[in-house]
Amino acid sequence: MTVTCHDCGRSGPVDDHLAMVACPGCGGVNIDVTGSDDVVLESITVNSGVREPA
Ligand SMILES: [Zn+2]
Repeated sequence: MTVTCHDCGRSGPVDDHLAMVACPGCGGVNIDVTGSDDVVLESITVNSGVREPA
């Protein structure tokens, strides 16, 4: 996954889970984490088989 810090501008891949909550460079928490394996898309929509009584 990749961490981008808005405080010091550091951006790069990280393996340490600590980097998910704090920037490995400056320790700031104003960061964005992308590409995490823990992110699971939960956009399952089930419509088939549902019938509304007329
Ligand atoms: Zn930083």
